[in-house]
Amino acid sequence: MRLVLLGPPGAGKGTQAAILSEKLGIPHISTGDLFRANIGEGTPLGVEAKSYIDAGKLVPTDVTARMVESRLAEDDAKDGFLLDGFPRTVEQADILEELLAKAGEKLDGVVNFQVSEDVVVERMLARGRADDNEETIRTRLGVYRDETAPLIDHYGDQIIAIAAEGSVEDINARTMEALGK
Ligand code: AMP
Repeated sequence: MRLVLLGPPGAGKGTQAAILSEKLGIPHISTGDLFRANIGEGTPLGVEAKSYIDAGKLVPTDVTARMVESRLAEDDAKDGFLLDGFPRTVEQADILEELLAKAGEKLDGVVNFQVSEDVVVERMLARGRADDNEETIRTRLGVYRDETAPLIDHYGDQIIAIAAEGSVEDINARTMEALGK
């Protein structure tokens, strides 16, 4: 299955993706994780991305899309993937569609994890990541509302909506059921 995971920052996408990846046998590809790995290794990509991530802003699309393209070209992503954190804008969604079309592929669905803003802020403050301070969280929620939320309309009937409040296990069970697994 080729799936995109959508939802505000702090929706629990990463947690759910890790479980789904294991159960479905497809790789979890998180652009945030890829950026953080590059920052950790001090690569040129990491150096370029760091200032945007620290500020809670989006890394420029050309940089991000190139990283995603090379990751999707790896062997383990040939038969399916869970994309977590990409696309984050309608422009990125168009790029993804083109990338897949070149390979004669398309998405099987777009899972949208729905959570209230209160829960999101609570979860982000609890995980304590470097970019999880209050000011950055506010910026990222603004970016989500302005740039990412429009993807829900963009994907229209490809959207698989999941109520993402409650326990990790319950949310996973709801998602598996919605995917017909
Ligand atoms: P995440 O781990 O998905 O919350 O992403 C952490 C940060 O990485 C975001 O706040 C952005 O700065 C950057 N980032 C992740 N994915 C993208 C993307 N698709 N486009 C631009 N920036 C991204």
